[in-house]
Amino acid sequence: MQQHPLLISSLIEHAARAHPDVPIISQMPDAAPHRCTYTDIDRRARQLAGALTALGVREGDRVGTLAWNGHRHLELFFGASGMGAVLHTVNPRLFPEQIEFIINHAEDQHLFFDIGFIALVEQLAPRLRSVKSLVAMAGRAQMPACSMRALLCYEELLAAQDAGYRWPRLDENAASSLCYTSGTTGNPKGVLYSHRSTVLHTMAVCMADSIGLSARDTLFIAAPMFHVNAWGTPYACAMVGAGMILPGSALDGASIYRSMCEEKATAALGVPTVWLALQQHVASQNRQPRQELRLNRVLIGGSAAPRAVVEVFERDFGVRVLHGWGMTETSPLASIGRPLRKHEDDSVEQRITLQTKQGRVPYGVEVKITDDAGNELPRDGAACGHLQVRGQWIASGYFRGEVGPIVDAEDWFDTGDIATIDADGYIQITDRAKDLIKSGGEWISSISLENAAVGHPSVAEAAVIAVAHPKWQERPLMIVVKKPGCEISKQQLLDHLSGQVAKWWLPDDIVFVAEIPHTATGKIQKMKLRERFGKTVWGDR
Ligand code: ADP
Repeated sequence: MQQHPLLISSLIEHAARAHPDVPIISQMPDAAPHRCTYTDIDRRARQLAGALTALGVREGDRVGTLAWNGHRHLELFFGASGMGAVLHTVNPRLFPEQIEFIINHAEDQHLFFDIGFIALVEQLAPRLRSVKSLVAMAGRAQMPACSMRALLCYEELLAAQDAGYRWPRLDENAASSLCYTSGTTGNPKGVLYSHRSTVLHTMAVCMADSIGLSARDTLFIAAPMFHVNAWGTPYACAMVGAGMILPGSALDGASIYRSMCEEKATAALGVPTVWLALQQHVASQNRQPRQELRLNRVLIGGSAAPRAVVEVFERDFGVRVLHGWGMTETSPLASIGRPLRKHEDDSVEQRITLQTKQGRVPYGVEVKITDDAGNELPRDGAACGHLQVRGQWIASGYFRGEVGPIVDAEDWFDTGDIATIDADGYIQITDRAKDLIKSGGEWISSISLENAAVGHPSVAEAAVIAVAHPKWQERPLMIVVKKPGCEISKQQLLDHLSGQVAKWWLPDDIVFVAEIPHTATGKIQKMKLRERFGKTVWGDR
């Protein structure tokens, strides 16, 4: 058989040849949406590759980005990786000190940024040790006024190149991109993906039992391209010729809804908070999503999809929820929820219950759960243990070997998540190991409690943390944000929860707050909540 390396450049080459006219729509700040096609992205990615070569970028050099989802960022996905550089998508929502740490640790040689981040870049620039040039992702007319002398203009770099650049035949195991985990504990750690792992992950993303992407789709990408490369979906769209809607920073409910309607999105992906905002917008404006949208499925991941969100999508939107699980270390898609043949006659209730689980692994990924001593636990949907994963697109270590070995002799990586796996292979994440509530030798799942609380019509968001208890070791404390204009008492919420979780799981106390803090990737920041509420002293119970 022939040998052809699995390269990221082959994705855009194929898209330009097989799907030249498919639209890629980017929401620009304060402007009409920008429209282009795979033909344009391919040409401009090659011009960019030429420009990077002219800047002296060599194979393996890191090229950083601080940017929202847009066509220039997409050109960097293909142009930088395609020419052999390592695309490093930095999360601009992190604290400036973390961004500085990450860019210095990665030794980014060039930094491309959206002009909206000019103040941040100006502040950081003197401390970025390896960065040789800063490139504003704009045309000459939009170049920001700033004190930095060595600021390059993206469009000028491209304009200086013709489209004659030819993609090099790289080693498929060469590094193609780099993402850092947000590092809720310690410094952020880098995961270095290869062309091969990326292309294999891309195939898994496209498969029918995954997102099932095709040339008939227009995908609304609400997961930021700096959050594990938008879960690999820009590559997946190119592989199958799906259209893309890249929403920039406009991730509020109204903007998402308008754009989905106007551009006729058929599928979408994002974290639960984005979908909550969309659903709240639709409810408050009495919109008719079933009539107004073409959307038929939404991939939810990053944190657990609350049952209430799944229900609203099913009932009011007529949209099927695909619930996925993964992490930076797993590229990220490691499991996704789709019904099996045996579920065909399930009631809506049963189907929604299935969708609240995090799904099954595709070919290429293996999972198991273990007890504290590392013994494998049964796949019976009841035993709860440490979720371990291995496979074609799972990290074998962190960038620069930080923290040492992370897999055992058989390549199993301990995800830090606690889960059950049922006989059909459906994974249910019950917690992150560090968020579990260990009460009297038993485990209470903070995620289950939170989801049950969010099921109450007056609750906008809920978080549960463990608080030390003299008798039970730890007990759950629930922190709740009410929906605007809604009232609910502690007792009413406890009554609502009683029907849904074991009595001994009920939180010992509930505190109502105006806002719950979130991480840079939209997850509840339990560390912050533990700092604020962790010292709660329980009454004598
Ligand atoms: P960060 O911690 O930097 O935000 P990741 O995006 O890598 O990084 O986060 C991965 C973690 O997110 C997983 O280990 C898991 O705890 C959580 N997670 C991701 N998807 C889900 C899901 N569908 N349900 C529950 N937890 C999830």
